[in-house]
Amino acid sequence: MAAFSSAQPNSSTAQPDGFPRVGIVGAGITGLSAALRLLKQHPRLHVDVFEASDRAGGTIETEHRDGFLIEHGPDSFITTRPGGLELCRDLGITEELIGTCSDCRRSLVLRNGRPLPVPEGFMLMAPQRLSSILTTPVLSLRGRLRLLAEVFQPRGPAGTDETLASFVRRRFGQEAFDRLVQPLIGGIYTSDPEKLSLQATLPRFPDMEQQFGSVIRGTLKNRFAARSETSDGSGARYGLFVTHRDGLSALIDRLVDALNRTGRCRLHLNCPVGGITPVDDSRTPWQISFRRDATPQRFSGLIVTTPAWIAGELTASLDDRLSGLLRDIEYASTAIVTSTHRLDEFEHPLDAFGLVIPIIEGRDVLAISFSSRKFPHRAPDGHVVLRTFVGGATQPELLDLSDDQILERVQKEMRSLLGLKTTLRSADVWRHLRAMPQYHVGHRDRIAAVEQRMQAHGGLELAGNAYAGVGLPDCITSARQAADRLLKDESLTRLAASV
Ligand SMILES: Cc1cc2nc3c(=O)[nH]c(=O)nc-3n(C[C@H](O)[C@H](O)[C@H](O)COP(=O)(O)OP(=O)(O)OC[C@H]3O[C@@H](n4cnc5c(N)ncnc54)[C@H](O)[C@@H]3O)c2cc1C
Repeated sequence: MAAFSSAQPNSSTAQPDGFPRVGIVGAGITGLSAALRLLKQHPRLHVDVFEASDRAGGTIETEHRDGFLIEHGPDSFITTRPGGLELCRDLGITEELIGTCSDCRRSLVLRNGRPLPVPEGFMLMAPQRLSSILTTPVLSLRGRLRLLAEVFQPRGPAGTDETLASFVRRRFGQEAFDRLVQPLIGGIYTSDPEKLSLQATLPRFPDMEQQFGSVIRGTLKNRFAARSETSDGSGARYGLFVTHRDGLSALIDRLVDALNRTGRCRLHLNCPVGGITPVDDSRTPWQISFRRDATPQRFSGLIVTTPAWIAGELTASLDDRLSGLLRDIEYASTAIVTSTHRLDEFEHPLDAFGLVIPIIEGRDVLAISFSSRKFPHRAPDGHVVLRTFVGGATQPELLDLSDDQILERVQKEMRSLLGLKTTLRSADVWRHLRAMPQYHVGHRDRIAAVEQRMQAHGGLELAGNAYAGVGLPDCITSARQAADRLLKDESLTRLAASV
């Protein structure tokens, strides 16, 4: 991890030079991206980032060990959402990004204890190749025909928020839901599909239903349109998913380096913020207090990037209703078991990016990502890195187990699912507790109510994965938008102009 000018908070006044200061709570990708945006957009601002833990990066954490590159949190980001690539362009590191490997480019899904290939071209719930649906062994003949009969299903009512489960059952049938869509989408949101809001997570599918009368028709139309748009043969510069060649912590290191170079940013590690309150001071109207005995500090503006339930605690004395809305956003916990192996320890060739597991299979793991098959240079020749996901919203009780108990269950599943012939020797359990926000039905209305309450608190902004997208690109976009809103705040611009 790159060095950061780390300091303990000790002063309740503005910067000695009188320049306006913005405080940021949380040094995950959101907090650091917000800091960079503020400093790039405004040459006079100073920024203080307060982080509860002893390192920057939040959920992102890469380990390099014995020739393996192991991601303990996220491992890549999608390129169809702009935030990730925009940040990399700002940092001048797009050349350091790598795409997924071309061999092994497929996913597996478990059926009756056997890993089978997901039908080619099946994206979340959109089949791009009807022939692969007709022949897939993942569904029974009846299930395949019902899936394809989606084109004949009537439109649902427009504009209603519906759960993922209800939409998919209605349009594609129960079997396609149980066997394909639930494991593919559940793996992304680690959520309960009976509660997940489709409008808040994948609005393009209900939009297709309304526009084309069918998701399949919409998918095929969009596919042909996309093909003719790229008919110059140039091809896309990036694949669907990319990552940093040295792991995602390198992205955090680059971000920290860029912040350091401005000379206007300080990171305070081991510095948990305990509350935020408005104060009667036109230059520094926001005060941060700390959980440890540091003196409170005042700022011209604040951006809170912690999980929403923590933001709710921090705003408890500021706005009861806002605090309640934020605390009502549910979060799920997941454990990732990262393990390294020789390939010949498995009977299965692991010739895919990973295996997803439907709830109805009744297993103790949600998915196993074959990490070093997905991205190159993550394991020495003849070896593999696996990431096994446990818990989530559908199996929260598994997070109550000890690390040893989790490892025991994962070993048992690996033996049964992939033919692991040895014991799980080199493995760690990484717990992500209350880390994944659950966009349940009604999420968009709740966020609209949060935004409405925030209008009363000029100079205070919220950003992160709880509001308009959980992926890294959405977090970065949310950070940039929060910074831009803050820079438009009248009192801040007046103050900056007066220096
Ligand atoms: C297991 C897992 C795998 C994922 N995989 C992917 C993936 O492959 N691709 C993808 O795009 N997305 C993925 N995501 C989602 C993505 O990683 C997260 O949405 C994103 O990293 C969140 O970043 P953040 O900065 O908003 O929050 P965080 O990373 O949670 O950072 C918030 C920071 O705030 C700090 N903090 C908390 N309370 C306080 C306080 N009181 N005072 C000061 N600091 C505080 C925390 O210590 C933390 O450092 C994954 C998420 C999880 C949990």
